[in-house]
Amino acid sequence: MTIDQFNFAGKKAFVRVDFNVPLDENFNITDDNRMRAALPTLKKILADGGSIIIGSHLGRPKGPADKFSLKHILNHLSELLGVDVQFANDCMGEEAAVKAAALQPGEVLLLENLRFYAEEEGKPRGLAEDATDEEKAAAKKAVKESQKEFTKKLASYADCYVNDAFGTAHRAHASTALIAKYFDKDSKMFGYLMEKEVKAVDKVLNDIKRPFTAIMGGSKVSSKIEIIENLLSKVDNLIIAGGMTYTFTKAMGGKIGISICEDDKLDLALELVEKAKEKGVNLVLAVDAKIADAFSNDANTKFCPVDQIPDGWEGLDIGPETEKIFTDVIKNSKTILWNGPTGVFEFENFTHGSRAVGEAIVEATKNGAFSLVGGGDSVACVNKFGLASGVSYVSTGGGALLEAIEGKVLPGIAAINE
Ligand code: AMP
Repeated sequence: MTIDQFNFAGKKAFVRVDFNVPLDENFNITDDNRMRAALPTLKKILADGGSIIIGSHLGRPKGPADKFSLKHILNHLSELLGVDVQFANDCMGEEAAVKAAALQPGEVLLLENLRFYAEEEGKPRGLAEDATDEEKAAAKKAVKESQKEFTKKLASYADCYVNDAFGTAHRAHASTALIAKYFDKDSKMFGYLMEKEVKAVDKVLNDIKRPFTAIMGGSKVSSKIEIIENLLSKVDNLIIAGGMTYTFTKAMGGKIGISICEDDKLDLALELVEKAKEKGVNLVLAVDAKIADAFSNDANTKFCPVDQIPDGWEGLDIGPETEKIFTDVIKNSKTILWNGPTGVFEFENFTHGSRAVGEAIVEATKNGAFSLVGGGDSVACVNKFGLASGVSYVSTGGGALLEAIEGKVLPGIAAINE
């Protein structure tokens, strides 16, 4: 079933969205792209004469916590939809069931953060650090058991299920995958956003025009290692940028000062360099860095070779030579994937590299390349620099996007297709 084929008139739809938006210390939304991205789906349901129960997570709560309450986004959601959205303080409570049952066509109910319950993710919480393997296994079994009831209850609120949360499609959670089995094939579907994401991934996976260049930035190798390994069998050029750079530099014997580095990943970095050679992938590493004497926008700065960073200094962005190397590779590419900034782009004085990479991607796109930008921070980058309209597709998914590109079957997608 596709959302365009479905008529929501008189139906209640449970829509799983990804409203995991960044909030500042006063709970103001600092980037509402994820909310806007779900609007076409929500508006289509309302225009048909349906009503909506919205489920989402926000952050990584370990239980109910005001800081992670979805009530902080309620007003903004009402504004975006032009409807007074109702709120249920507890996604499992009596109130949620009563409000869902009373929904009239055109009405919307936002459920409190689904992850206030361990059952959403199906992972035990509150285990003692010294828990034995048996205790861990028992706790896991218990939460898997109660997860069934949790999922069934969520499903009971609605007549149909729409998954528009690409950002969590790689997780087999209650509301992103397990819930689908309570709906028959004709009453479960992707939302518009999910449809678009699936199409964009397909282009990078099955319709590759070469050269294919991936730019992997961000802070840590450890969080991206699997993806990097997998990309090595797909791409022609792999650009390593951001904080990861210094783990590679140190592994190869360079001096990195106090730059961010994962000392337990040095061997891994060397292995990746070897693997790239074996596979004939052009692994592109930084040659110079913009270094700072403190982790601050106002720090003193200078440029230096990436492997000669003085003691007490740290690399917070790429230098001009690296920028030239990276952007030349990008401009000559026909398929481009960008995940992660080249530096600490949150500090204005260290945005230059990320901006240059973004601009090179836009130029390549103008010349016919297909460019896909994904991962929270790269999306923040292209938005910050006003480049979003110049790339082919800006994904709302970080991990989900990368897993999809690795060729993994995403549970959230499989659950609808089954
Ligand atoms: P990730 O979530 O792994 O994509 O990492 C993104 C974060 O990496 C951003 O918040 C950047 O500030 C940070 N980052 C990028 N380059 C560096 C660097 N050279 N040193 C420290 N943090 C960095």
